[in-house]
Amino acid sequence: MSSLLPPSAPPPVLAGARVLEYALVDEAVTFTGRLHLYSGNERIGRVPCLAICREFDDGQYLLVHCGEDWEALGVEAWNGPFAQVPGSVDEVKLRAESYYAGLSSKWVKLEVSPEDARAYQEAQEREFICSFCGRGPDELPSVFRGGDATICGDCVRELYRMLDEPDDAPSLQ
Ligand SMILES: [Zn+2]
Repeated sequence: MSSLLPPSAPPPVLAGARVLEYALVDEAVTFTGRLHLYSGNERIGRVPCLAICREFDDGQYLLVHCGEDWEALGVEAWNGPFAQVPGSVDEVKLRAESYYAGLSSKWVKLEVSPEDARAYQEAQEREFICSFCGRGPDELPSVFRGGDATICGDCVRELYRMLDEPDDAPSLQ
């Protein structure tokens, strides 16, 4: 599957959502500045890569503003109290066009099935689940990766504690 994708294509999942279409912002596209998207206190300006994504759970559309290597810099989810939620890919494209004049013809479909995208997402998440206690990224401040295994700080501390304990455990005999 991935060998068929052009090298400029994004991964199947960005910002936790399935990529439907993507666009590379080239010189022919003009950034209008009509974008009010912030990451922390920083306003997101012109970016080289954009992707239209769809959330796995509620099917909501996202416009993900990305850097050159498809790292997500800002995510537009239109989930504010007064936001008009776009109901289709075409509606997202209209909004993107208002920020980037000339972008409409640049969109490319990413042919990844929801099943493949979900499998990719689950594999990504597994990388951050402790192989020893099974807790995931929501519960763990830090994990350490080695080969195919992941261990969390708590399990490392527990391991040290066990190694440090004097050998006074009752003998089996
Ligand atoms: Zn652990």
